[in-house]
Amino acid sequence: MLMRQLFDPETSTYTYLLADESTREAVLIDPVLEQVDRDLQVLRELDLTLRWAVDTHVHADHVTGLGTLRERTGCKTALSERAGTGCPDVLVKQGDRIPFGRHALEVRETPGHTNGCVTYITDDRAMAFTGDALLIRGCGRTDFQQGDARTLYRSVREQVFSLPDATLVYPGHDYKGRTVSTVAEEKRWNPRLGVERTAEEFVDIMAKLQLAYPKKIDIALPANLQCGVPRGVPATPEAREPAPWAPVEVSSGGVPEVTPEWVAAGAAGARLVDVREPSEFNAELGHVPGSELAPLAAVVDVAARWDREAPVVLVCRSGGRSGKAALALAERGFRKVVSMRGGMLAWNAQRLPVARD
Ligand code: FE
Repeated sequence: MLMRQLFDPETSTYTYLLADESTREAVLIDPVLEQVDRDLQVLRELDLTLRWAVDTHVHADHVTGLGTLRERTGCKTALSERAGTGCPDVLVKQGDRIPFGRHALEVRETPGHTNGCVTYITDDRAMAFTGDALLIRGCGRTDFQQGDARTLYRSVREQVFSLPDATLVYPGHDYKGRTVSTVAEEKRWNPRLGVERTAEEFVDIMAKLQLAYPKKIDIALPANLQCGVPRGVPATPEAREPAPWAPVEVSSGGVPEVTPEWVAAGAAGARLVDVREPSEFNAELGHVPGSELAPLAAVVDVAARWDREAPVVLVCRSGGRSGKAALALAERGFRKVVSMRGGMLAWNAQRLPVARD
């Protein structure tokens, strides 16, 4: 099997090219939009036909090359069925196979960094492409995109550390110039997830990380939910649609959601509407500074006076009522309406500033 490790210096992202040396059929894992021309050149030079472009997850730090590669080569695209998007040709799940020539990648679900993270493993178990689930001596953050430390711990232990010790671990990124590790090395030396660590210790480590808001998240997330480029749109970066107004993620219940962090960062100037009862607005959870009160039972009537083109973020205690309100307003023609995921409980858990009148 042919393998090339390619690197995007701007985002420290690794893209992997795998191919069957006899049939010349190839797969790209985690291609980066800005590097599509480079990737296509390598394919040409090595006389390969791209069959698949696949992502390990919906990235928050760079825009994926999936859609553009599909447009330019006719390859198929794949992402986890738990990634919350319908843009790829194939939605994969645990145990699925991505065939290329006589080889295949096996899909293992490794959620925790995001819900829709998968690890791709070559069928000879020689290589594991772990995305951001397991990095060399580290792991992806668990504070965004439905991240959950306990889930990540279980994923890495059960799905990656169960592989042979000699399996090569190829991560989605490295920020210190390292290129590859092994299962044995990470079991022994990974300071977060090594075999000595308990789940409680790992959860504690992750909770104490003070990580900055990802630079490209507001552009990357919405774009990546469309595979980086909507179908049928000219596949040059310049010709892409402008980025959507918010990094919206659609919940399993179909509710368009944004994160509390994004709301705290200004919510792109959206109207902030709290749909709880008046008694809750100034109770112990407080409310988001600058938000107005319109209880769920009344919000549709109150909103009749609002500009339907202007963006609206709905907030409640845990995200249930605001989700219902978002769907109700969307039905009434609001085009930019979202619910804040996790509500004031999540807001307070992240110690974001609260107001009480
Ligand atoms: Fe990531």
